[in-house]
Amino acid sequence: MPTFVRTEKCDGCKGQDKTACMYICPHDLMKLDKDGSDTGHAMKAYNQEPEQCWECYSCVKICPQGAIEVRHYADIVPLGGSVQPMRGSDSIMWTIKFRNGTIKRFKFPIRTTSEGSIDNYGGKPMPKMADLSTPGMFTGTSMNGYRAGKKEELIRVK
Ligand code: SF4
Ligand code: SF4
Repeated sequence: MPTFVRTEKCDGCKGQDKTACMYICPHDLMKLDKDGSDTGHAMKAYNQEPEQCWECYSCVKICPQGAIEVRHYADIVPLGGSVQPMRGSDSIMWTIKFRNGTIKRFKFPIRTTSEGSIDNYGGKPMPKMADLSTPGMFTGTSMNGYRAGKKEELIRVK
């Protein structure tokens, strides 16, 4: 179920050409209605194709105004409930609101490395193309204290 924008909170990212929600949406769904001709709300963002939204929450987390919310499937979050994150500099707080009014909050640390700074394959061996046709993977043996799981540890075998 899709995101929606609370127009009273959205400030159009202060007139930037590309708003934060437009920048982050992996599906290019968010759009700024500059002159209000699409929605009647000038300089407010909106989800232009709600049926394509997969609830990844990226726009919800990045919105500096906390203006974006998600309308969930009823079997996950019943009508009247909500699941809303608030991002800080080193943590994220999830506020879960039950429809009986109960509120629970959960706080988790977040990654603090800057964008693009992670070296995903740092310290890993270069792949050997010939290995593609052999069974197993390069993590098959112990690497840096880690090893791949054994089949009998992962599934029940006869
Ligand atoms: S929840 Fe994800 S897919 Fe949906 S509008 Fe936001 S960023 Fe795009
Ligand atoms: S990121 Fe938030 S404040 Fe910025 S345009 Fe989108 S909904 Fe509005």
